[in-house]
Amino acid sequence: MEVTEVEFQCVRCGKTEPRLPAAPMPGPAGSEIAEKICAACWHEWTEAEVMVINELRLNFMEPKSLKVLEQQMREFLLLGGPAEAE
Ligand SMILES: [Zn+2]
Repeated sequence: MEVTEVEFQCVRCGKTEPRLPAAPMPGPAGSEIAEKICAACWHEWTEAEVMVINELRLNFMEPKSLKVLEQQMREFLLLGGPAEAE
C-alpha cells in the first residue's frame, strides 16, 4: 500500500506531525514506530535511550538487554505491549 499522506497524528504527542522518513529500526517494531510515532517524538526517545542504557546498565551482548530496551522504548512512546511478532 502506498503512503500518500506525509503528515499524520502521532500516537505519543497527539500532534499532526511529519512522519519519520523511514523505519528507525528493523523488524515489526520499526514499522510500527514509523506508522505511529512522529520524528520529534522519536528524537526524544533517542536522547532518553542513552540515559536508559546507562541507568539500567544494559549490555547488548545479552539478548535480554535488547528486550528490556525495547520494552522501555514502547513505554516511552506509549505503544503498549510488545510487537505482534512476540
Ligand atoms: Zn509525536
